[in-house]
Amino acid sequence: MTDFGGALKPFKDHPGADLVIVGIPFDTKSSYLRGAAGGPAAVRAVSTGRCYNPETELGADLARDGILVDYGDVELSEDPETSFEAMRRAVRAVLAAGAKPIVLGGDHAVTYPVVQAFGEKIRPLDILHFDAHPDLYDSLDGDRLSHACPFRRVVEEGFVGRLVQVGLRAATEAQRDFAREHGLEWFEMKDFGEGPRLAFANPLYVSFDLDCLDPAFAPGVSHREPGGLTVRQALSVLQNLEGRIVGLDVVELNPVRDPANITASAAFKIIKEVAGRMLRP
Ligand code: MN
Ligand code: MN
Repeated sequence: MTDFGGALKPFKDHPGADLVIVGIPFDTKSSYLRGAAGGPAAVRAVSTGRCYNPETELGADLARDGILVDYGDVELSEDPETSFEAMRRAVRAVLAAGAKPIVLGGDHAVTYPVVQAFGEKIRPLDILHFDAHPDLYDSLDGDRLSHACPFRRVVEEGFVGRLVQVGLRAATEAQRDFAREHGLEWFEMKDFGEGPRLAFANPLYVSFDLDCLDPAFAPGVSHREPGGLTVRQALSVLQNLEGRIVGLDVVELNPVRDPANITASAAFKIIKEVAGRMLRP
């Protein structure tokens, strides 16, 4: 179906992979629109080596510098808790094999179980979170597992070192208070300037909600929030940071709202550049 710029190798032939793509076609925790379940298929579809090469802007070659495989999609059930356990199981399996997961969402609710699986193995874990929204609601519409809540849950688990949130422009007072109380680091769009140059001491997990990007660059999301990052600004933050990236998710791609696959292409570009940094820090 796809080949990630020609870098993808068959999973069955490469148990010792370095990077493992894990699809999570899950959108039942979306508060507004469904569609993010189509995200993994959309990213895979645009990533063909007939259009892209496997070399990143920073000089990593995904086809030569490591082994990239596709685990396929996590099998989901009607029951969210059962689905969350399946997500944790998939990430555990990748980490146990000594590889780094690249998770294709799905709505942002998937980050909670994915990061829980990291927390079983890596403590403290720093997190760099790109999003228009802080996703720090205690609950939304009575649901504590909503895609508006994953970072509240993750902070409560107690194994997060730093949580750095970039691209914010739809915060609420309650989320602002929670962030202050817990020492979260916020880079809001209104103060963005040239963007932060970040350095992380602990292993770093990157969670990339595509609605951090301006809808002009990424219309294929459920919650379009104008005034966001350009693709280039997001890449600059990622390319300039110092740290060892151990995992990535890219979430909230809604192909139903993505004319000409613009957002899927942006998602692929972000994945490619971060994947290169995961192989060559
Ligand atoms: Mn989000
Ligand atoms: Mn968001």
